[in-house]
Amino acid sequence: MTKNIAVIGAGPGGYVAAIRGAQLGANIYLIEEREVGGTCLNRGCIPTKTYFRNAEIMRTLRRSKEFGITVDNFKLDGKALQERKKAVVGQLVGGIEKLISSYKNIEFIPGRASIKDKNTIVVNLKDGETREISVDNIIIATGSKPTMTETKGVDLEGVITSDDLLEMEEIPETLIVVGGGVIGLEFASIYQELGSQVILLASRILKNVDMELTRRLPIFFKKQGMETYVDIRAKEIIKEGDKLKVIARYKNKDKEIEVVGDKVLIASGRGPVVEGLNLDKVGIEYDNHKGIKVNEHFETTVEGIYAIGDVNDLGIQLAHVASSQGIYVMERLMGLTPDINLDVYPNCVFTLPEVAFVGLTEEQLKEKNIDYISSKFMFAANGKALSLGEGEGFIKVFASKEDKKILGITIVGPHANDLIHEGALVIANDLKLDAITRTIHAHPTLSEAFMEAVHGLEDKAIHMA
Ligand code: FAD
Repeated sequence: MTKNIAVIGAGPGGYVAAIRGAQLGANIYLIEEREVGGTCLNRGCIPTKTYFRNAEIMRTLRRSKEFGITVDNFKLDGKALQERKKAVVGQLVGGIEKLISSYKNIEFIPGRASIKDKNTIVVNLKDGETREISVDNIIIATGSKPTMTETKGVDLEGVITSDDLLEMEEIPETLIVVGGGVIGLEFASIYQELGSQVILLASRILKNVDMELTRRLPIFFKKQGMETYVDIRAKEIIKEGDKLKVIARYKNKDKEIEVVGDKVLIASGRGPVVEGLNLDKVGIEYDNHKGIKVNEHFETTVEGIYAIGDVNDLGIQLAHVASSQGIYVMERLMGLTPDINLDVYPNCVFTLPEVAFVGLTEEQLKEKNIDYISSKFMFAANGKALSLGEGEGFIKVFASKEDKKILGITIVGPHANDLIHEGALVIANDLKLDAITRTIHAHPTLSEAFMEAVHGLEDKAIHMA
């Protein structure tokens, strides 16, 4: 008998799950109250990466003399930046809509869904009607939304979230960014290149990353021209004329600073979208900050109802992880035996320079008492990086001393976010360092830097002293 499955939310978790379910022969109801593509396509990954490209171009233009090119008087048109973003997002959203409609066994329902019981969902349709649908299973993929800190003054005009900033045509003269997570760092780095004077107030730089990275990134940012304060918390925001003043206090010092800007971006985290789903009545356990409780199969505390992506309590807010959880749940529901390894997924940060990491950090290896070897290769010794004018940064690789399995990789530098996948492949498949050293890498490429870093584990790197 055909299985009927409801998917609530059409972000990268939900729409990917829906398509995989349809491919496997299920009858899918995909309910979305806003736009197909969710946060990722409309207010997250894609809009920020169109801005990132502008930031890269602005940076290159500023350095044009280095390349023997004279470029005078260039300036960014904020309206054109918005239009380009909208065009890219529109093309992708349109593509996904077409893709979904090409599956005859996916019914796309625009509206807001809530759960009546484990086999029934209720949809408040966009035209004001209500529809009840009976299903065998429900997958909640309602994602996340920005959360505000409890800092005094966050409700003042000019204090904004990432959603607001991505809608603004104006490039603020001075932008204060509160938060040192991925979203805060990306916006800080991008807006500094777009022309703002960015002041970064970060209580820490990223989470669970290589300590050298947390030390080096602020140095890169300062070089970029950013005012960077780390180990500091915003305490209060005050309106001063048409400006905003942020008072921030160092975590371990009895010292405060005051900074003044035109806008304050609060990038202090995102919380699960759980309102209106009727979780309490159905008996699904959740926490308003951490998300819906799930087991290792992403099943909630109610059998047959699953929660994937940003909304569950696993704390991994990444589009590719949401999609892989969606595929896993659907394949399992359709009788397959899928595999998912949530210990190994690439983390990418689109700052300038880019940052990417996968697997274990040196600190985690020490905590786990794993005997390890490590090696670091500098992009300054890589021909392609120097030709690009991007000789800053490094690739660091960790492997087990005993069996030479590669366990962790951190990259800072040009195209780190693409380079990381060779490492992710090796770690996800438990491969040893010879899987890389046996593979001839093309010259001149950035990938050679990874090969050299791995050769360095056995002191065989050619271009390393
Ligand atoms: P979402 O994408 O949030 O989708 C949930 C959908 O559910 C939404 O469309 C919502 O309208 C809908 N919905 C909610 N409630 C209901 C309801 N009751 N009924 C019907 N529909 C409902 N991740 C990366 O991997 N790479 C990046 O570069 C990256 N950059 C980011 C930049 C920013 C500024 C932000 C904010 C996020 C970024 N992320 C990035 C994170 C990424 O966007 C999320 O991890 C991803 O979108 C999560 O997917 P999801 O399907 O779980 O939820």
